[in-house]
This record gives sequence, structure tokens and C-alpha cells, in this order.
Amino acid sequence: MNLILLGPPGAGKGTQAKRLEDKFGIVQIATGDMLRAEVRAGTPIGLEAKAIMEQGGLVPDAIITAMLANRVSQPDCAKGFILDGFPRTVPQAEALDVMLAEQGHELEHVIELQVNDAILVDRIAGRFTCAKCGMGYHDHFKPPVKPGVCDVCGSTEFIRRADDKAETVAARLAAYHAQTAPLLPYYAAQGKLKTVDGMAEMNDVSAQIEAILNPTKG
Ligand code: ADP
Ligand code: ADP
Ligand code: ZN
Repeated sequence: MNLILLGPPGAGKGTQAKRLEDKFGIVQIATGDMLRAEVRAGTPIGLEAKAIMEQGGLVPDAIITAMLANRVSQPDCAKGFILDGFPRTVPQAEALDVMLAEQGHELEHVIELQVNDAILVDRIAGRFTCAKCGMGYHDHFKPPVKPGVCDVCGSTEFIRRADDKAETVAARLAAYHAQTAPLLPYYAAQGKLKTVDGMAEMNDVSAQIEAILNPTKG
């Protein structure tokens, strides 16, 4: 099973992708996480992406598409994958269609998490993750059960993304509306687009997604 989670920054793609990974045994491919790892490692891709990401723009299609092609050809992707943060432009979507056809993979669903901009701003402002295991949290919507301690691994170190500051969020939302939203009609035309209410509570969003993946259940 291969799927895309599509939605603006802060929509809950990462949160839901992690849950699907656990539940269905398919891997999450988060291009933002991959780019942040390249930046930390100081690779040529990282050096090129750093300033663009800090400004809230999109990394050039050629770079990101090559990175993605390399990732989906890894053996752990054979059972299926969840794309989180890719594609973000129509040329990326077209490149993905070619790539999947070449590798004999089928894209089953494109699930849009629909969330209003005002809510996204609050989601992004309160977002943080565990420095050790990567578990995602939110100051108000999902604080750790024990304050300051990761629920999953017990670590007491957390990270906030540099591009989650208010000044950058407006640029990221603008990039979404201008460059990524055109993917909605692109996938609707392929008959693959399913939309869920991303403003619902986290467990409810998960239930809406599972209803799409297991249409016969419940
Ligand atoms: P994305 O990967 O789409 O950028 P995240 O999954 O990182 O989004 O979610 C953004 C923030 O909002 C995180 O702090 C997360 O804990 C929180 N969040 C995710 N889904 C919901 C939800 N349904 N309701 C409230 N907060 C949520
Ligand atoms: P979010 O979780 O808020 O949606 P991501 O972690 O997916 O953000 O992406 C962070 C940044 O990485 C983006 O603002 C962009 O600069 C870059 N990026 C990630 N994926 C892509 C992509 N597919 N194409 C271009 N740039 C990307
Ligand atoms: Zn942790």
C-alpha cells in the first residue's frame, strides 16, 4: 500500500504518518525530515537547502525528486510507504508518477488533511519533538503525559524547528497555497483524492483515514 498525505504545514501529516507506520507496517517518508538530516550532516544537498528552508520556500524540484527516487528504491519501501511532505509541486507529482510506474508501484490514495490557516498557525507555534526518538508533541494539544519527559522513550530533551517561528510560517503557508494546492485537482482528476477533516481531534482524524484504507470495516 502506497499513499500520500497531503496538506499544509502543521496539518498533522507527520502525526498521522507515524500512526499508520505503526499500524500497517509501511514506512513514513518525510522529505522535510530527510532534508533536516542533510542540513545537520552538512552534505551538498543540505548546504543548498538550508537557506531556502529557513526562509520557508521550497527546495528545487530536481534536488528533492532525486532524493526521493533514491529513498523509494530502498528495500524497506517494498511493502509500501506513506509520503509525508512530497510531492509539493505539480512537477514533483509528475516525476513521482513516472518513478512509480518504472518501479511497478501503485499509488492507492492521496489523503488530504484539510485545516484552516488560522488553526495551522497555532499548531505550528506549539509544535515540538523528542530529540531522541522524534515523537511529536504540542504545548496545548498533545503535551507529554509527564511534563518535560517523552512518553515514548523517557528523554527530557526536546527540539523546536527553526522554521516554526511566526515570521517563516506565513511564507510556508503562501508556498502551500501557490505551489502545492494545485495537486488537489491533479489527484482528483486521477480519481485518487480523498479529503478528511484535519481540524478534528487526532484520534478522530486517524479514524477517518482508517475508514478510507479499510472501507469494508466498521
Ligand atoms: P505536519 O507534519 O503536517 O506539519 P504535525 O503532525 O507535525 O504536522 O502536527 C503539527 C502540530 O499539531 C504538532 O504539534 C501536533 O502534535 C499537532 N497536531 C497534529 N494533529 C492534531 C490534531 N488533530 N489536533 C490538534 N493538534 C494536532
Ligand atoms: P511541514 O511539516 O511543516 O509540512 P516539512 O518538514 O515537510 O514541513 O518541510 C520543511 C521544509 O523542507 C519546507 O518548508 C521546504 O523548505 C522543505 N521541503 C520539504 N519537502 C519538500 C518538497 N517535497 N519540495 C520542496 N521543498 C521541500
Ligand atoms: Zn522520545
